[in-house]
Amino acid sequence: MNRKGPAPLPEPLPAPITDTHTHLDIVTAGYGEDARPVPAPTDNVIRELIDGAEAVGVGTMVEVGTDVTSSRWAAELAETDGRVLAAAALHPNEAPLLDDLDSALAEIDVLAARPRVAALGETGLDYFRTDEPGRDAQRRSFRAHIEFAKRHGKALAIHDRDAHEDVLSILDQEGAPERVVMHCFSGDFAFATECARRGFYMSFAGNVTFKNAERLRGAASVAPAELLLVETDAPFMAPVPVRGHANHPALTSYTARFLAAHLDRDLEKFCLQLSENARRAFESWQD
Ligand SMILES: [Zn+2]
Ligand SMILES: [Zn+2]
Repeated sequence: MNRKGPAPLPEPLPAPITDTHTHLDIVTAGYGEDARPVPAPTDNVIRELIDGAEAVGVGTMVEVGTDVTSSRWAAELAETDGRVLAAAALHPNEAPLLDDLDSALAEIDVLAARPRVAALGETGLDYFRTDEPGRDAQRRSFRAHIEFAKRHGKALAIHDRDAHEDVLSILDQEGAPERVVMHCFSGDFAFATECARRGFYMSFAGNVTFKNAERLRGAASVAPAELLLVETDAPFMAPVPVRGHANHPALTSYTARFLAAHLDRDLEKFCLQLSENARRAFESWQD
């Protein structure tokens, strides 16, 4: 996966949109056996990616942390570049691996207070990568992030993999924050209907463009227009026609174009709607 190197920049969109979920630290540092040190948030390589995205109409992005270090990095980047908002959290696959979950959660709580941290995320449940012994820690971490989001008045960005039912039942039990974003939406028509009923945002990633993603496209069709968002989850899941390349925020534009065509919407109006939705989801706490 992602062995083809960075994809070329797409054609500019007629109106700016937001990549609501990206990991510029992982994009630039690589991962797995090829991982290098993460550049400083002020490094030119980071600015070039953001400039490239802005040039094609992806004018804003949410940089998402997965542990204390990357959450702090996200907050610092957002504080140095006005086009970036940060999300801070312990990823559901990270939480069970920590020796001291409580002190890591306490650090996320501190980060959540920083003014450019717009969301707690990505948190949630991942039953694909974490087996039963780790799931208690995952659920405890998820509950803590829900509480942080409510107390700080910030959005909650949820990672949900093979755990739809438990994600909804924990949110229902705890009481969901005012703004919940289901990142890399992976449910079907019925799950999208449940999310819509609760007013949760549904953020679609590049995989909605994949040939075999009929179920996801069915979900996108029932998602109310005012709850739709798009994201890259870069460096993962680059959309068609650059599938297999390393993903980066500029490529959100392919997903936006694809969804506009799938939903039979005028592209410019669709982009304006996406942009307004992202502002409401991630920035309205400042109003
Ligand atoms: Zn995720
Ligand atoms: Zn992610």
